[in-house]
Amino acid sequence: SASLFSAIEMAPRDPILGVTEAYNADKNPAKTNLGVGVYYDDNGKVPLLECVKKAEAELIAKLAPRTYLPIDGLATYDRAVQELVFGAGSAVVTEKRAITVQAVGGTGALKLGADFLKHFSAAGTEVWISDPSWENHRALFEMAGFKVNAYPYYDAATRGVNFAGMLDALKTMKSGSVVLLHACCHNPTGADLTDDQWTQVIEVVTSRSLVPFLDMAYQGFGDGIEEDGQVVRRFAEAGGPLFVSNSFSKSFSLYGERVGALSIAAASAEEAARVLSQLKRVVRTNYSNPPIHGGQVVATALASPELRKLWEDELAEMRVRIREMRQLLVAKLKEKAPAHDFDFVIKQRGMFSYSGLTKAQVDRLRNEFSIYAVDTGRICVAALNSKNIDVVVDAIAKVL
Ligand code: PLP
Repeated sequence: SASLFSAIEMAPRDPILGVTEAYNADKNPAKTNLGVGVYYDDNGKVPLLECVKKAEAELIAKLAPRTYLPIDGLATYDRAVQELVFGAGSAVVTEKRAITVQAVGGTGALKLGADFLKHFSAAGTEVWISDPSWENHRALFEMAGFKVNAYPYYDAATRGVNFAGMLDALKTMKSGSVVLLHACCHNPTGADLTDDQWTQVIEVVTSRSLVPFLDMAYQGFGDGIEEDGQVVRRFAEAGGPLFVSNSFSKSFSLYGERVGALSIAAASAEEAARVLSQLKRVVRTNYSNPPIHGGQVVATALASPELRKLWEDELAEMRVRIREMRQLLVAKLKEKAPAHDFDFVIKQRGMFSYSGLTKAQVDRLRNEFSIYAVDTGRICVAALNSKNIDVVVDAIAKVL
């Protein structure tokens, strides 16, 4: 007889977590996982940053009771995030047109934004994401009730951005449509827009009354914290409504603490106050208020000049190490596979590279060399290190 659940089909496996499952099951001690979405240090470990250790030591010494946070999160955290994202002296901040709520990671921030847009704003019914995009964007906005389309983004021929295609698509979207843009370090391709291309995007988005939603999960992994925030600031200066989700999962190496935030820029302080009041209802009806620890760690680190400097240095170290791995990968491939041009890897930004490896080549890397990449050819450059790079380069040279 039919049960409540008898019609439920098995959901497809998460493509990226599936790679890690296969990697974990592999008994080859020389196995390498380039399919991950986290930063590893040169020893292949997820780092615990010094600034985090020190902030946690301060917090533990206080032995504070674990009260509830306010619905919109820790006030000092929200303020610090706002300044990091928009710039401390920016007009949206000083005129109180921006609101920020602590969120359960970058994912939670995206979902709060999606639910708010759906239930409380005059946005249209369609969301546009890049082709390709972070694989959760589509599912997340669909679950929130939007029709999700993709605009052209990656150009396999140039291994860069199909900018003409992207701009044409922006010009045909219905006014009020939500456009999801990666503020820096595009995941999965590593291909970002130039300053001049952003100027054109901002112009079209603003003049056609599209709703920009900037996802910034990698601030500080491109050129620097301030530099990577420029796109957000330029959109804010353009004056229209703006959604920004940001995450400290990578930049503070605090993945499991789930620290992110959603910021919204409105037309006036009065409008912003109304937006915040309804956004708090979205939070309240989902999880009531955010967890306390991660937000306190980040707020503590950002508030102390000493810890903040330490964070900036540690983030720079991660950024520089990834760049060095890009350089080394390209230089070594030049030696081992001189017929192939991998120079594009140096131009890509952030943790990832669309390597151009085909599905068949990725399969061979896995089956013959226990090297795991995503089927699309995405590799995590931050999973390369001085110990595994030669093994990886030799294997890639063999499957090309
Ligand atoms: N957005 C993008 C583009 C990402 O790559 C990620 C994480 O991989 C997220 C959002 C989600 O971040 P979090 O882990 O903080 O939820």
